[in-house]
Amino acid sequence: MADLEFAVYRIPIEQVGGNSYLVLRGSEVVVVDTGTPGNGKRIVDEASNLGVRIKAIILTHYHIDHAGSAAEIKQSTGAELYVHEADAPYVSGKEKPPLPATVPSEASRAYANYSPVQPDRTLREGDILFGFRILHVPGHTPGSIALYDGRFLFSGDNMNFREGKIQGTPAVYDWNREQAAASVRRLASLSFDVLLPGHGVPVIGSASDKARLDLGLVRGRPLAS
Ligand SMILES: [Zn+2]
Repeated sequence: MADLEFAVYRIPIEQVGGNSYLVLRGSEVVVVDTGTPGNGKRIVDEASNLGVRIKAIILTHYHIDHAGSAAEIKQSTGAELYVHEADAPYVSGKEKPPLPATVPSEASRAYANYSPVQPDRTLREGDILFGFRILHVPGHTPGSIALYDGRFLFSGDNMNFREGKIQGTPAVYDWNREQAAASVRRLASLSFDVLLPGHGVPVIGSASDKARLDLGLVRGRPLAS
């Protein structure tokens, strides 16, 4: 393994156009989101190929295309699992997930394949984890989080990259649309260079400017100053 201080590897989850990320900081590697069930071995193998062991798994939210392989990775590596306290009961299976009223039936059916897993630690707004600040950005789910270090933003499903644009999730997938919209605006108000979205390819370079532009949040400048 190289002496990289910081690197991010993206593992595409093709069936949902989603992403799992390996985040290397020194000798530590953290998985951000795990894809749908059945991707665990692939993610663990990617880490092995890099010569590193997975120390922790952070889930941006409980949805099955993000939390689906958490149990498998935790079982094979002993990695600690982190999730926001509001989504923890759905990851552990203690409570039935609050699916949005209009959720597609295939999404409900997908949970039949989900392996519940107990988080080791729950997260809150402002926690610092592996050099990232945890931002609680509810709406897509009650416990959706983003990870932010001033340059990189892991947005979970609050911001995705679809059809050449940074966008929020289609409202049909959101638990609370008003909160989701407010959370998207909060993330867009930050300054970040690289966006690592829950779905779609990363946006590298002036990503927050692009987010504000794509989301129609750019304020008009005065004509004269
Ligand atoms: Zn989601």
